[in-house]
Amino acid sequence: MRKTALLLASVAIAVLLASGVALGVTSSKQRSGHPIEPEWMDEPVAAQEGSVQASLFGGHWTSVTPEETLYYYNPEKVYPTAVGHGAGAWNALDTRFKGRGVRLIKVYSAAKATVRIDGIRDCMDRSWFAFAQNLMGAPDRLGVNTCALNRQSAKLRQHVLTHELGHHLGSGHQRMRLCGKSIMLRSVPCGRKRIVLTKLGVRDATWYQNRWVR
Ligand SMILES: [Zn+2]
Repeated sequence: MRKTALLLASVAIAVLLASGVALGVTSSKQRSGHPIEPEWMDEPVAAQEGSVQASLFGGHWTSVTPEETLYYYNPEKVYPTAVGHGAGAWNALDTRFKGRGVRLIKVYSAAKATVRIDGIRDCMDRSWFAFAQNLMGAPDRLGVNTCALNRQSAKLRQHVLTHELGHHLGSGHQRMRLCGKSIMLRSVPCGRKRIVLTKLGVRDATWYQNRWVR
């Protein structure tokens, strides 16, 4: 009798432990998703009035011209549909704010470009999908790891390109708790529902309005 009780108790503990461990692994995986960028990438830093950063980063990290246009050049035709989708998503905000924001326009020469899109086949390191890089003096660079993204869905590619163009507009990352409300999270998918946004979230629209609409 006592033996049976002991056996039952230990079985119960084993089950609890196993399920606890399994749950822990699953939920942390669900929450964190896959990092979008390599660790070395510097995200844009919002200039704060009067701070040291304002002088260091004033006007830094945006591929937008003084005329408030971003000219993107995609010579290798890296995921042209996803790139077009990303530009369209941000342009929809400019339209919503009656043309007082930024326009993203496709160009066909390096001389006109403020952002150049480059395909980079990094099959040795599929831990990153893309990066945005400020190259002081232009054009800035949007690097895409085609080796990692070829294995992903069209939806995820749209997410990543829209996100990177957001960095080129000057947006940094948003906190993971804004899952579903911003496309500017560090990793994808997010949350228990494993959300992969392809449109801009409410938080992105607020950021855009504060940064670009006058
Ligand atoms: Zn990012």
